[in-house]
Amino acid sequence: MGDTFIPLADLRHGLRALVVPGASPAPDGLLSDRLGRPLRDLRISVTDRCNFRCSYCMPKEVFDKSHVFLPHSALLSFEEITRTARVFVAHGVRKLRLTGGEPLLRKNLERLVEMLAALRTPDGQPLDITLTTNGSLLARKARALRDAGLQRITVSLDALDDAIFKRMNDVDFPVTAVLRGIEEAQAVGLAPIKVNMVVKRGTNDHEVLPMARHFRHSGIVLRFIEYMDVGATNGWRMDEVLPSAQLLQRLQRDHALEAVDAAAEGETAERWRYIDGGGEIGLISSVTQAFCRDCNRARLSTEGRLFLCLFASAGHDLRALLRGGADDVQIAAAIAAIWGQRADRYSELRGAAGAGQDTAARRVEMHYIGG
Ligand code: SAM
Repeated sequence: MGDTFIPLADLRHGLRALVVPGASPAPDGLLSDRLGRPLRDLRISVTDRCNFRCSYCMPKEVFDKSHVFLPHSALLSFEEITRTARVFVAHGVRKLRLTGGEPLLRKNLERLVEMLAALRTPDGQPLDITLTTNGSLLARKARALRDAGLQRITVSLDALDDAIFKRMNDVDFPVTAVLRGIEEAQAVGLAPIKVNMVVKRGTNDHEVLPMARHFRHSGIVLRFIEYMDVGATNGWRMDEVLPSAQLLQRLQRDHALEAVDAAAEGETAERWRYIDGGGEIGLISSVTQAFCRDCNRARLSTEGRLFLCLFASAGHDLRALLRGGADDVQIAAAIAAIWGQRADRYSELRGAAGAGQDTAARRVEMHYIGG
């Protein structure tokens, strides 16, 4: 059987033509890309909508009432997502992260969690399933998600100060509601809970210490993310990035920390713990210390496009295969071909060109492919 070539045009986001190899070995979990990186982590965006308008992600001026979100028919159904995830698991994926947009806006999301929780690795093990949320609906949903099989959760929270938090989410959402969601997640037993704080110098960097003090001794891991040049709409500037090394110095002045070994290969956060037993924090230094070298993550967009890098400008249209009658063998072959060609390492290369200078106009937005 010869290769099938599916050329497709798209005006919304860049699209790569898909080649389905005629003959391909069955998935054996040993797939690796051109830089020898395995495929272990699949991030699945379940909606391109969000109820926040964080200036660094979905600025209000761009994503206003006139912005057209994807119609429901364009979104992958839960069955399509589960089927795709099953093929990825055969290829070696062990971790699934639901994201968005705001994933808790997708109706009946717990049903999807239940379907994904039923998947098993080739040797019969359950998968590591997690979800990233802005926490706005978490107080209401935490129990149903846990009952459906969600094990752990990451909540994004950029400040404790209500005025700063409201300014950052830009929809006047109060911080107390997110803190209530985190408490409920703890109460129902989701663990570990991680809190992600995007740090923008001059906007919320003075919230670093209050946040660190708040989450010390809570069992919750606070992770600081360098403000990144993702997408093309946030007007990113390097002088608004607080490098993790400087942030660590500020934390160290408050409480002594020591480095902790990575728990798993391909981990995004550098781990540190308080010497006095106050718990752990994480530093995600995507701008100043690129971690492309062991990136084992693939991203499935809301409408079923496979992106190989957060900074990619185009994705591979798996939905065309799913809806075009391809069987699982063909889908597995397509994924193997795509991953086998992967050589992306945007963050490592950005230094020379200057971050945000080269491809910014073409990069997809983070709310579309998921964080
Ligand atoms: N709505 C969910 C949430 O708030 O977690 C999931 C999607 S959101 C795009 C995922 C993560 O990406 C959030 O932690 C968010 O803060 C982070 N993020 C978005 N834009 C970013 C940027 N420019 N730099 C660093 N992190 C960013």
